[in-house]
Amino acid sequence: MPNGICYLVGAGPGDPLLLTLKGRDCLAKADVVVCDHLANPALLQFAGAGAEIVHAGKKAGDHAMAQAAINQLLVERTQGGATVVRLKGGDPFLFGRGGEEAEALAEAGCAFEVVPGVTSAIAGPAYAGIPVTHRAHNTMLTIFTGHEDPGKSSTTLDYGAIARAPGTKVMLMGIERLQAITENLMAAGMSPQTPVALVRWATTGQQKTLCSTAGEVAGAAAKADFKPPAVAVFGEVVDLRGSLNWFESLPLFGRRIAVTRTRRQGGELAARLRSLGADAYEVPTIRIEPAPDKRAFYEAVAYAHGYDWLVLTSPNGADAFFEAFFEIYKDARDLGAVRIAAIGPATAARVRSYRFQVDAMPERFLAGEIAAAMEKETSLENLKVLLARASGADGELPAGLSQRGAIVDDVVAYRTMPETGGAGIQRYRTEGADLVTFTSASTAENFQSLALPEPKGVVYASIGPVTSRAMREQGLAVGLEASRHDIPGLVEAIVAFFKKTHSNPHLDE
Ligand code: SAH
Repeated sequence: MPNGICYLVGAGPGDPLLLTLKGRDCLAKADVVVCDHLANPALLQFAGAGAEIVHAGKKAGDHAMAQAAINQLLVERTQGGATVVRLKGGDPFLFGRGGEEAEALAEAGCAFEVVPGVTSAIAGPAYAGIPVTHRAHNTMLTIFTGHEDPGKSSTTLDYGAIARAPGTKVMLMGIERLQAITENLMAAGMSPQTPVALVRWATTGQQKTLCSTAGEVAGAAAKADFKPPAVAVFGEVVDLRGSLNWFESLPLFGRRIAVTRTRRQGGELAARLRSLGADAYEVPTIRIEPAPDKRAFYEAVAYAHGYDWLVLTSPNGADAFFEAFFEIYKDARDLGAVRIAAIGPATAARVRSYRFQVDAMPERFLAGEIAAAMEKETSLENLKVLLARASGADGELPAGLSQRGAIVDDVVAYRTMPETGGAGIQRYRTEGADLVTFTSASTAENFQSLALPEPKGVVYASIGPVTSRAMREQGLAVGLEASRHDIPGLVEAIVAFFKKTHSNPHLDE
């Protein structure tokens, strides 16, 4: 029988970058990933394409799968020889029933390993600007759960012990029971003046923090309709937030940004926005499909060495070209001496990722300027140019090249199809966005064809003039256009836009 193993992996508190390197390695080799509802689904990008994903969420009141069934699933799949990753929010051994899962595995004789994670008990306060310990304030940290096994008849929470313990207290779960919990703590001697912070969806762009005191926090939370998941921090250290509130001060903190993109493009834009604090999520609008006339495309690729120039106008075009090329040829030298032009840095980077150098790239990333960049290398008179692009691309580029005397073959390398389903589209429908980004004409066209409702006050942001033109044609008002037409340029423009024009409704203190 093959040897299965189960890894109990801490997913970290929410920000996908807070997964450990070891956790990422485990995901990469998993046959099965069993997620809980607090583990950020974005982490599933680190699992292989063939991995089976099981959502074994456990929200209060919504038991997607009972614990016994989860234990059984882990044991059965491990015994069946699979490499199983049990992905659990925060750290697997802190109030997540990871201990019980490990026991079930041990009892069944299954191999297992534990990969600790960054716990929300410490990272949550940290992202709210609260160090759980500080030499000047405390020497002790108590972590307790506000939610016990509902099957238990009497409470095992010793409020007296918690209230008497010096230092910071952090409570996980039980945010719905704050009234009873704070009353019990105060009855056991906690001062009603004790500073308290509640941090919801900590470490993500949706983070919300509420500051109060032990005496008033339950009322304040009810008034603000403060919902789980949240951690509660009790103690003097909460006041340090006044000067240490770094995350919520990031330039895009809390801005809800929908990033239109193709399923195959890397999530670079959303990742950059998130690193500046944004609540960025992706709305895939288009899907890349192979060239409809595969034969014509493959013939052009096979004969690429017979051209003087190969012109690529998008990362997707570069992927389509080189994937076809390496299907046909085993040796990179079969590309011969053809020069390669790329329309912008993203396309150039993709070309280089296949270990080919780029011979020409225009200074401004516009189709109209690429011919000029190529002419810096050689006159185009009578040269053979292979243009590998999306179906339906406009005629400006081939016309410009022909005008300069080039003999142009314009082949369809791939086509974009509208994407109609998925979690991103669903989220846009229900939650909308403060801003929507467009990075190509086709994202604008396909976004409009989805006929999504327009959120109040939404701003449409464009990467450059070609995209803006397509947006206007689609009836999308261009609220801002990047002056450098690449991803960093777009991010810069978005930061500048929010800085000068809008107060941040997400900062409500
Ligand atoms: N093992 C997890 C805790 C599981 S219990 C850990 O180490 O973080 C679930 C509780 O964790 C939630 O009720 C909430 O109190 C807390 N929690 C988890 N993720 C959180 C987040 N992003 N923001 C705030 N609280 C979080």
